[in-house]
Amino acid sequence: MQRLNVIPYPNSVEFTEGTVEKEFLANNTKLTVTPGSMGDEAYRLEITPEGAAVFAATEKGAFYAAKTLEQLLDGDTVPCCVIEDEPAFSYRGFMIDTVRHIVSLEDTKKLIDAAAGVKMNAMHWHLSDDQGWRVQIDKRPLLSEKASVRKASMFGREREQEEYGGFFTKEELKEIVEYAKQRYIEVIPEIDVPGHTTAVLHAYPELGCTGKEVEVAVKQGIYPTVLCAGNDEALALVYDVVDELVEIFPSPYFHIGGDEVPKTAWAACEKCRARKKENGLKSDDELQTWFSNKVAQHLKEKGKTAVVWNDTIKGGTVDGATVQFWMKGKKRTAKYANEGGRVIVSDFFAYYTDYNYAITPLKKTYNYNPFIKGIKSEGKINIAGVETPTWTEYITNFERYCYLAFPRCTAVAETGWTLPENKDEEDFERRFEIYRKRLENLGITPAQKDEWAVPFLKRFTQAKLY
Ligand SMILES: [Zn+2]
Repeated sequence: MQRLNVIPYPNSVEFTEGTVEKEFLANNTKLTVTPGSMGDEAYRLEITPEGAAVFAATEKGAFYAAKTLEQLLDGDTVPCCVIEDEPAFSYRGFMIDTVRHIVSLEDTKKLIDAAAGVKMNAMHWHLSDDQGWRVQIDKRPLLSEKASVRKASMFGREREQEEYGGFFTKEELKEIVEYAKQRYIEVIPEIDVPGHTTAVLHAYPELGCTGKEVEVAVKQGIYPTVLCAGNDEALALVYDVVDELVEIFPSPYFHIGGDEVPKTAWAACEKCRARKKENGLKSDDELQTWFSNKVAQHLKEKGKTAVVWNDTIKGGTVDGATVQFWMKGKKRTAKYANEGGRVIVSDFFAYYTDYNYAITPLKKTYNYNPFIKGIKSEGKINIAGVETPTWTEYITNFERYCYLAFPRCTAVAETGWTLPENKDEEDFERRFEIYRKRLENLGITPAQKDEWAVPFLKRFTQAKLY
């Protein structure tokens, strides 16, 4: 069967007679934008011996048509055809953890270009964690002064005795937002609360349950140093951060984390116990949900919708929030979608590209079905889409980042755009080898084909995270 050399594969392709020379086609393209004529992200592309004609309802749709045409022009000739295309999912994202190791602005832009090239439309920016704080907040200067620096980096085999740190200024954040916007990618910031806050507590120890001084974490892991949910001052800090960041990030979404929150400190804390009592909360899980609801409510007043990791809804629903599914709680997340809640799927086992290829071969990523078990037909519409996170504990340089993220990130982009009936794993691998050059031109070197899977016997020796 004839297939175009395009990633993500278009959803409707009708081949007609003949081919057109690349040079001729590049100089003979026409664009017609008619508002309302089709979906915002849809386009129609007609390739005939007379040239290429693009139809879209928006500039965004036209941009996606251009991205398809760009890849078609990588060949010497282009087959005549009519492409009618629109995405399977409205949310197609990737996540950069710029905390454990900082991904520079320059490299971030490369990743944005790579994402835009395969019609992704969201960049989730993980900006705070136990191991550092990465944004300037004027009202809370200690965050960038103290919380952004750790004394060493001791991530598994990746050990560095030197001090490590840094943060992005507001101007730098804006630069990325603008760069992404020009490529129809919205940037969603994440400030992870109430857990993963060791760095915050290094700057403001009084916001933890014990008030004890603590160092910014130097290792990977889950830390008991969480914000005190019974302390209004802890919420006040989060509100201050939100207030400054919503001015920079125009996205209607704002990620407030909520993953991996150990409750040991809360259980022993008088303020937390009092909070539970006064609000009739029966468990610490409910207390976490209460906390996230407060932040979500604050965001709502700013016209924003909160995004939370799925751990957060263990203790109840966060009003109006989008839930990002990553691990456990699949049933609960499916129920959330079935009852009308918006869900983004980032199953760690398939979509975390920091896992090596022995754990997560390309095949597993490519064939993952975002309609998680338990989703009923009425819930499918609430699966907004897919996102591939890249956590950087064990990624100390951009070469390693690219080796792990590509081609798996590209595979997730195809799942986000292409309907299952139009996907084809073998053909994706074939197309990727042609597309590879585009990534290399951006300064991104993907893993080689023989690295996309690890042979059965070797898997057991290489199936480690680092
Ligand atoms: Zn407390």
